[in-house]
Amino acid sequence: MRTCIFCHKNASTREDAWPLWLMNRFPTSSKSRMEAERGGQKLGSWRMAKPKLLVKWLCASCNNGWMSRLENEAKPVMKSILDDKLKDIDISAQSTLARWALKTAMVLESIDSDRTWFYSEDERQLMGAVQSLPPRTSVWIAKCINQPNIYSAAKDLRTAPNNGGVRAYATTMAFGSLAFQIVSIKTSVAIPENVTLTYEITGGPWDQTLLQVWPAMQKSMEWPPQYGLNSEFGLDALTERLSPATR
Ligand SMILES: [Zn+2]
Repeated sequence: MRTCIFCHKNASTREDAWPLWLMNRFPTSSKSRMEAERGGQKLGSWRMAKPKLLVKWLCASCNNGWMSRLENEAKPVMKSILDDKLKDIDISAQSTLARWALKTAMVLESIDSDRTWFYSEDERQLMGAVQSLPPRTSVWIAKCINQPNIYSAAKDLRTAPNNGGVRAYATTMAFGSLAFQIVSIKTSVAIPENVTLTYEITGGPWDQTLLQVWPAMQKSMEWPPQYGLNSEFGLDALTERLSPATR
């Protein structure tokens, strides 16, 4: 019997990973891929180009309850960004976007049920119960240009075994002109939460391209950023921005 990824109830519904209003707005094909890497070496890659991604790991009470409320909270914010009507993203909109992005990253991860999921059961339950984000998680948004589709990519990044067992998981998603990147980091040894972990980032004007919405840095952020991501190539560069250390 399948149980819901966000609570312990039976998974009773088959839902699209993408909300209906987004699929109606971007009816062309959506592209999705999943990858695992260790020290620069690709362990596996999955690409899905389907208009629909069905999730079978949700229950009706999550779906009709907190998920639906979060959707109703995120929809006006995302719509006003997509319609070029939002010039300042305030702290409450930043938090809404971050929680929505994390929920969606967890749902997306569940589509591949053969893998061990990066987000733990505790982290998913906390998302379901109080919509809190896992520790060491950052969320950025970016503006896309010439990108009319839904795009999603997930990368499971593992470092070499003698590196303290640091793992990172990056989800990159775009809906037309709005892109999200979510990065979560885990360590196998107890490193205090206030210690900043670093990872390698490929060259590029990322500081002028990405706005960090979680953890919140500013009360209000000007939208759009100075640089945009051009077409699917720009999104692929964002997906490839993080790579595990090769040493
Ligand atoms: Zn549930």
